[in-house]
This record gives sequence, structure tokens and C-alpha cells, in this order.
Amino acid sequence: MQFQHLLQQTIARARRTQQYVAIVYLDVDRFKDINDTFGHAAGDTSLEILSRRILAELPESAHAGRLAGDEFAVLLTGFERIDSGLAEIGDIAARLLASAGKPFQVNGEEIFLTLSMGVALYPRDGDNVIDLLRNADAALYQAKKAGGNTFEFYSTDMNTAAVERLMLKSKLRRAFERDELRLHYQPKYRLTTGKIEGVEALVRWDLPERGLVFPSDFVPLAEETNLILQLGDWVLNRVCAGYRTWQRLTPSPCRVSVNLSLRQLQQRRFLDRVKETFRLHGVSPTSLELEITETTLMEDPERTIRILDALYAMGLHLAIDDFGTGYSSLSALQQFPLNTLKIDQSFVRDVASDQDDAAIVDAIIQMAHSLQLEVVVEGVESEAQLEFLRKHGCDYAQGHLFGDPVTAEQFGQLLVAEIDGTGKYRALFA
Ligand code: C2E
Ligand code: MG
Ligand code: MG
Repeated sequence: MQFQHLLQQTIARARRTQQYVAIVYLDVDRFKDINDTFGHAAGDTSLEILSRRILAELPESAHAGRLAGDEFAVLLTGFERIDSGLAEIGDIAARLLASAGKPFQVNGEEIFLTLSMGVALYPRDGDNVIDLLRNADAALYQAKKAGGNTFEFYSTDMNTAAVERLMLKSKLRRAFERDELRLHYQPKYRLTTGKIEGVEALVRWDLPERGLVFPSDFVPLAEETNLILQLGDWVLNRVCAGYRTWQRLTPSPCRVSVNLSLRQLQQRRFLDRVKETFRLHGVSPTSLELEITETTLMEDPERTIRILDALYAMGLHLAIDDFGTGYSSLSALQQFPLNTLKIDQSFVRDVASDQDDAAIVDAIIQMAHSLQLEVVVEGVESEAQLEFLRKHGCDYAQGHLFGDPVTAEQFGQLLVAEIDGTGKYRALFA
């Protein structure tokens, strides 16, 4: 409160003297992890050390305040010109990042923090306390989104983006009742035979005024709220229902892969809910594979292993998705009950022309096989990529080379074509 009061006074003074004021909103990156790992007492000590470090980097005339848990704000004054002001603020922000990032000891444990910061300027970005704090917060959000350990100056498009996000979020809430979600299916081809031996369910949102919205634009929004749980339930139910319809065409349709978010895995009754869904639809857990990204797996490995062990015991297959984008070690991988490893698209793009990518993909395939994992490569778009993957012993390929992901009904037709031996893409594997 004292800080907001100071901010108000400072704005009033700056209005009279026609100066600029900067408000820097700071937030510790993943502070929860520090509390969870080292305990709350160590968390408190870390905040104390951080606040001393913040103060040490600030000029005499500045003020700093703690706004909430791990959120701080800094008030910088005395800028007569915007260009030199921006440079000076940038310098201070860089010093704060560097200083906060230095490791320190608490109870014999080495800890280090990183910060994200957002900066808003009076009068350019707002002429009152509320607007300035809100805009500094919007800039902070961008800094977080860029991965943290950085700072951003506010710009008006950030608010447009923030408003857009809010709108999308409230529309997403209604998407379920309005039946706007769709599930598309992308087949997985076995490289030695060209047969469809699996399929991945990919969610889309058919937003009337916008057309098909892809998951990268709304899954992260859903993850910020409980909507992701509802979304996950919806997908699992749809997949099971789809599986039942395919069973009328062929007694054993291929295994269906479903993408899972961390929040879903973390919900308390996740296992029971999954079991209940299978029971309701009369689908065996062995018909499904759950895909979990490498980053998700490594977020809270100990807890995740326990849940995955239980899922695995039910007969579900488990896959590590987007492999190569995280930093997992081989020994870390070994702890998880996995069946499948999916190599991230980014390595595949230039695999036929770039020697480094080729070496990485080859090494991952070898490594996965020695861990008894089957390897899927996603994002296959060209015959040259397909050729490379076949030569290097990859097990399955997925990608636009075999067309766009299709509806459940269209996938049923693909399965029928398989049985008839009239699969459209067989020739590619000849
Ligand atoms: P992912 O699981 O790694 O899915 C692969 C993504 O690559 C899909 O994007 C797919 O359409 C795209 N793709 C497939 N073949 C090609 C290709 O040849 N070239 C290129 N450039 N792209 C290709 P999509 O559908 O936009 O999904 C993005 C991500 O959203 C997925 O990545 C997955 O992590 C997430 N996602 C999708 N559906 C769900 C869901 O039901 N629940 C959750 N939690 N996440 C989902
Ligand atoms: Mg996936
Ligand atoms: Mg992937």
C-alpha cells in the first residue's frame, strides 16, 4: 500500500515537472519450485536475500516494494528524456537480472533465482497507478512467456494480446456446450510395411468467426485454468467413442494416441476417471497410448513415475512426446515405464540435408532401441525424409506426407482401405 501511495505521489510530481517515471514489475521465476524443493523457510530467506540485492542495484532516488508473495515493484524517477531514460532503465533491469541470478547458500544448499520483469512508463503507457501497474504486468507476462530471466517494455499490442487472450478464454468455456471442439486423427505408418499401426488424436476448436483454431493457440490457455481437465475428459471420451465406431469396421482397430497435459496427470482422481471412461465405453486400456511431452515428464518426475506406473499396469501404452526439446538424461528416461519415443519435428525438418540433424536422429533411434523403445518420427513431409528414416531403422512415421489429419469417419475409411489392401500411401514404402 505504501508503494502504491508513493507511486501516486511520484506521478503527481512528475506531472508538474514533466518528467518520466518508470515502474518495473518483478516476479521470481518458478518460485514455487524453491518452496517445494527447499522448504518455506528457505523460500523466505531467498526472498530476503533477493530484496537486499534489488535495493543494492537501485539509484538513491528509486523505491522498491513487495506487492505479493514473490512479486516486487520498483519505481524509477528523474528521467527528462525518453530515449536516455529507456537506456538507463534497460541498464538497471539488466543489473537486477545479473544480481538476482547469482547463486547463494541457504542451510548449506545452493540456490539461485531468476526474475522476469515488465516495465511501464508514465506518461507514455498510462497516467495513473492502475493503468501503469496493469501495463507493467502485461509486459511481465510477455517476459514470462519468453521463458523468464528477462525483461520487456510495455507496448500497446501487449494489451490487445491480453484482451484477446481473455476473450478467447471465456469463449473456450462455452466451446464445450456449443459443441465447437473437434478431434482429428493422424495415422502412424510402420516404416517396414507401410501399414497403419496407430493414430494420434489431435484436438481443434472450430470457432465460428475464426475458423479452425489449433491447439497451440488454446491448449496453453486451457492449461491456465481447470478447463484443461474438462478438455482432457472430452478428448478421452471422444477417442473411446470413435474407437467403438471403428470396431464395427474392423475387430481390432489400431492403437489410438492421446496427448496429455501435466495438469491432467496431477489431478487427484486422474486414474479413477480414466478407468471410469474406459468402463463406460467398453474400451480396453490396451487400445490406447498416452503421449506426454519430455518437458512434462521432467517437471515432477518422482510423482509422475508413480502415476505412470499405475497407468502402465492398467495396460495403457505410454509415449514420450517431442523428445529432444527438454534436457532429460538417459538415466532419467529409464525410470519411466515407456513404450514409445517420439522424436521432435524440429530434428526431422532437415534430416535429409543437414548432417548434424541426421546424426542426432540416428543417435536417438539407436539409444531408444537399446532402451527397448519404439521410435516414432513426426512431421514427415517429404519422401527424402521417409527414405532416411527407413534406412536408419526408425519404426513409425507420421506427417503431412500422408495428408492432413482426418476426421474419425475418414479414419474409419482409411482402416477399411487397409483391410482391402488399397491403402493410398503403400507405394511410398515399396
Ligand atoms: P504433438 O503431440 O507433438 O503433435 C504433433 C503436431 O505436429 C500436431 O500439431 C500435428 O498436426 C503437427 N504435424 C503433424 N504432421 C506434421 C507435418 O508433417 N508437418 C508439420 N509442420 N506439422 C505436422 P497440432 O495438431 O497443432 O498440435 C500441437 C500440439 O498440441 C500437439 O503436439 C500436442 O502437444 C498438443 N495437443 C494436441 N491435441 C491435444 C489434446 O487433445 N490434449 C492436449 N493436452 N494437448 C494436445
Ligand atoms: Mg503428440
Ligand atoms: Mg510431438
